[in-house]
Amino acid sequence: MAQLPNRDTHFADWYQEVIYQAELVDQAPVRGCFVIRPYGYAIWEMIQAELDRRIKETGHENAAFPLLIPESFLKKEAEHVEGFAPELAVVTHAGGKLLEEPLVVRPTSETIIHYMFARWIKSWRDLPLKINQWGNVVRWEMRPRAFLRTTEFFWQEGHTAHETLEEADAEVIMMLEQYRIMYEDYLAVPVVPGPKSAGEKFPGADRTMTLEALMPDGRALQCCTSHLISRDFARAFEMKFQTRDGNVEYPYLTSWGFTTRSIGALIMTHGDAKGLILPPRIAPIQVIIVPIVKEGADNEAIIVAARDLALELANRGMRVMLDEDTNKTPGAKFYHWEMKGVPVRIEIGPRDVAQQQAVLVDRLTSTKQMMPLSEIPASMIAVLKKLQVDMLEKAREHTKKIWYRQEKLAEFAKQLEEKSGFYQTGWCGKPACEQKLKEHKVSIRCLLGEKTFSTCFNCDAKSETDVLVAKSY
Ligand SMILES: [Zn+2]
Repeated sequence: MAQLPNRDTHFADWYQEVIYQAELVDQAPVRGCFVIRPYGYAIWEMIQAELDRRIKETGHENAAFPLLIPESFLKKEAEHVEGFAPELAVVTHAGGKLLEEPLVVRPTSETIIHYMFARWIKSWRDLPLKINQWGNVVRWEMRPRAFLRTTEFFWQEGHTAHETLEEADAEVIMMLEQYRIMYEDYLAVPVVPGPKSAGEKFPGADRTMTLEALMPDGRALQCCTSHLISRDFARAFEMKFQTRDGNVEYPYLTSWGFTTRSIGALIMTHGDAKGLILPPRIAPIQVIIVPIVKEGADNEAIIVAARDLALELANRGMRVMLDEDTNKTPGAKFYHWEMKGVPVRIEIGPRDVAQQQAVLVDRLTSTKQMMPLSEIPASMIAVLKKLQVDMLEKAREHTKKIWYRQEKLAEFAKQLEEKSGFYQTGWCGKPACEQKLKEHKVSIRCLLGEKTFSTCFNCDAKSETDVLVAKSY
């Protein structure tokens, strides 16, 4: 395999290459679509399992809605259709003939789910209604990049309906917090939570909350979003309920989504010159054991010790694999598992067996550590925990380093073009000033809810809130 492009100088090329060499994805025949290979899908399944547990624990139920949506459904909410129209894939023919009404391949499922909600919600007793769906959606992508922007992607989308605005607001915040936990505690990717500006919110939402992460090249990645959906949707689909005092009202709606883009965030945040580095909590393989055997030698004792150790670790709940491939040299195996980002490697050679010990190498720092075989099973949980913590800490340090605080756009415009990063500044709240940022190919990623600048970055008006400005993926 070819060496990876330099991550510091050619970040985009490095990303492009590492996802193929680590066997996460392959190209599909349709532009913008990617095949997620077993190792990539195993990472998604790890994320999915934990997030699904949290979604259920917070009172939601899973359901499945159709992939095909009548085109007229999308036209019911003006802002929604306008936002999605350029990205829609539409089925016009089926069953060998022209369809009476074209069908849209879902870009998101608000419309079909709200149509069903309208049938299911009659009284306040039917609320809150809290549904989640795991599935795939299609949004035609002009500039595809695996995991980050793809025509078809996998995600979960939650949709809820509530009696009161307060309840819906609390739901939006609660799910954003679940996402934050997933990103920081599982993927070890530090994020900044905050509302989107009106200009950047989801088409059809009254409010959009986002998590933004800063990638190593200084670009911001919108990690996931949680929306308070406009009640226009409820009106459009005539979703009404009888209130406790006998009146008829439209419910308050939310939706929130977490996608396979999270894998892109993970790869970019942690990878290095040797390939991926996966945080232990979501690594499909946490420990790889490589027996150092020689052809012609008596390797029996090494293999037995390696198998015993693998069994011990598995019994303690760790995801461990023993690489017994006899066609590969130990060196080739090291290279392979480093590329795949396995957090810990254990090497057992003839001398190690004789001394009842093994060599531990962690993927984050490449530090080698000798440990008695008998101590490894009990110590490994702590080793993995420490790696998990260190990865988040390292990523946090990096974010801090390229988080700038600047007062006036006129002064930092040049720096913006030369040094990508988060730029914290003040904003008056006016779209005209926000628009000014487009000239520099940056945007407001989120509002910060703190006020450390007295005036707007662009005009002399008072700043309403600090904002984070950055180039984005
Ligand atoms: Zn302004």
